[in-house]
Amino acid sequence: MKFPTRTCAKCQKPTLKPISRRFSGFGTAVQHRCTNCSAELDITALASIGVVITVGLMALLFWGYILFHDSGGTGLFAQILYGFAVVGLISVTALPAYVNFKNPPVMGCDLESVASESTGNDAMKRAVIWVENAGFLGGLLLPILVVGAILSLAAFIGFINFTYFGN
Ligand SMILES: [Zn+2]
Repeated sequence: MKFPTRTCAKCQKPTLKPISRRFSGFGTAVQHRCTNCSAELDITALASIGVVITVGLMALLFWGYILFHDSGGTGLFAQILYGFAVVGLISVTALPAYVNFKNPPVMGCDLESVASESTGNDAMKRAVIWVENAGFLGGLLLPILVVGAILSLAAFIGFINFTYFGN
């Protein structure tokens, strides 16, 4: 994988170089070091942030529906817990997005090859890399596509079942 040099937020010089890449949670982060002021920071792939946003929102919607569709039965504790989940989702996505935004890639720079910390041999890591090549929008849309595929498969199995085996 190749990554661009970025502008360092600390010293404002286009000298923030990608060094290594590691798997974290369900995405990857690329470790950067500034050759000017030797600041170090991890930059999370935008596609991973997109996946977390969509999966988190779907979970919150589903949970929120269960919690709030029957307005009489919602306890204060459940509401507080829900509030924490909302704040949690915002903080895990906003911070890496902010770091991306504050250290923008340098336009027209040469991309640098970065070795992954471990060889990407197992299927999970290849899947992660595949997702990250899709970019931020791809990351946002991918979970919806996966859920859609699962639902259509379920509908298809239901249809076969109904047609050939009578409900
Ligand atoms: Zn710097």
